Amino acid sequence: MLGLMQDWPLLLHKIIDHAAIFHGDREVVTQTPEGTVERSNYRRIDSRARKLSEALLARGIGMGDRIATLAWNTARHLESWYGIAGVGAVYHTLNPRLFPDQIVWIANHAGDRALFFDVAFAELVARIAPQLETVEFFVALSDREHLPDIGIPNLVAYEDFIAPMSDSFAWREFDEHTACGLCYTSGTTGKPKGVLYSHRSNTLLAMMACATDTLGLSSRDTMLPVVPMFHANAWGIAFAAPMTGAKLVLPGPRLDGASLCRLFADEKVTMTAAVPTVWLAALNYLEETGKTLPALKKVLIGGAAAPRAMIEIFEKKYGVEVVHSWGMTEMSPLGSLGTLKAGIADLSWEKKLDYKVKQGHPPFGVEMKITDAENRELPRDGKTFGRLKVRGPAVAKSYFRGDGPGAFDAEGWFDTGDVGTLDRDGYMTITDRAKDVIKSGGEWISSIEIENLAVCHPAIAEAAVIGVPHPKWDERPLLIVVLKPGQTATKGDILAFLSGKIATWWIPDEVVFIDAIPHSATGKVQKVALRERFAGYRLPG
Ligand code: AMP
Repeated sequence: MLGLMQDWPLLLHKIIDHAAIFHGDREVVTQTPEGTVERSNYRRIDSRARKLSEALLARGIGMGDRIATLAWNTARHLESWYGIAGVGAVYHTLNPRLFPDQIVWIANHAGDRALFFDVAFAELVARIAPQLETVEFFVALSDREHLPDIGIPNLVAYEDFIAPMSDSFAWREFDEHTACGLCYTSGTTGKPKGVLYSHRSNTLLAMMACATDTLGLSSRDTMLPVVPMFHANAWGIAFAAPMTGAKLVLPGPRLDGASLCRLFADEKVTMTAAVPTVWLAALNYLEETGKTLPALKKVLIGGAAAPRAMIEIFEKKYGVEVVHSWGMTEMSPLGSLGTLKAGIADLSWEKKLDYKVKQGHPPFGVEMKITDAENRELPRDGKTFGRLKVRGPAVAKSYFRGDGPGAFDAEGWFDTGDVGTLDRDGYMTITDRAKDVIKSGGEWISSIEIENLAVCHPAIAEAAVIGVPHPKWDERPLLIVVLKPGQTATKGDILAFLSGKIATWWIPDEVVFIDAIPHSATGKVQKVALRERFAGYRLPG
């Protein structure tokens, strides 16, 4: 017997309609490249997204067409997502931090029919336009006055594109499994692969995101997603914020510590989200200026491991709760979040910190297990590490165009490529990317754990650990550090600092000092580049 409840397809435009009707005056604030702010609200975002949908239909864009966006977090970019998805087309976020050749490759692989871009990227767009095989027209996310005049073909200003259209356009209705968004993985191993989100997966993700133990977003919050919309679906915030009626503050291109801290204060931001490298800069700025974060209540840190010292400074010095989170593009991207469970929340500060440093527990909608190389499930004892596998309604079941089939098994589990432990309380700890694990004498050493400890040393700004060849043990850890400006430390100081905090055989064999650690376009340490740089490295003795 089937239930007698309504079939109400989970479509993205229902989210923005809900926001427009029930939270219509709630602001969406954009910081311009000049540092001023522009104010919109959910009612306006909804009506302008409808205009965009109509304009796209008039240009022959419809179901399944991919429309690229090359843009920072702004109100126009947000409208574009809803307007594109509203006709059954697919917003495809391009990461401007990639090399131009990579962007071209991705846009051609995706078969994008149009490209929406911030005028800040006009030169880049003009340069790559001749190589974009499927792009028919370009939309500058600006008014006519700011339209770049540098020879981009078939170019129209966004404001001119939507101006003649009606804001009473009726959204198209279609199956909730219809594709709505496309985001490529970073491609650190091989070519980037496309992850194709559906209306249903994004809506369920947003509902998951709002839950108290996930983001815990409410209509009283003001959310500033530093995480760009071109990275991993903006962690679902572009849907979760309007779903709850939270005010949105979109920082545009200015992501430096001073600009962010000014926005936090001016807009009374209560919640924010970014990768650790962003917070390193923001915390340095606060340290130098002596400023505080009076309105900020919660910061989400993910995309790379949040160092213990960073969590401690946010919580103890600035009174801001840190929720350490883990996920990936293929998971839309939320996988686990480090809120404190009953019992754990009552522990001593140091013990609570031990849990906050872990990558958290999965919300409902994410199944998680660890396995050995033969796909046998490993114990959830907090010690055994294995390959982390996940499944759920917002987890990819295949890559776009069938690429990389090996990551998915017959039971629907997706192999994340991460290695981690799961404890009895359900908390997961990432110990490494599978390809970064250091294999020493047949045992595994976690590079992340050593890095997290090393950055607690007062003189160390950033640290990375890679395995280097060893005649007896196969591989041994090499610790690569960047010191804070004006600070000094020797190999002996650093190894003494690590001693007693990790197993003796995990202590790095050598410490090297460099000026800067290379980062990828999504803010992750580029271990591949470090391994190349130290390829010929021989440990002393
Ligand atoms: P992306 O798809 O670009 O978001 O990258 C996802 C990958 O980033 C994951 O598979 C992890 O390797 C890494 N990652 C994300 N969050 C964390 C975290 N909190 N700690 C450690 N690694 C993380």
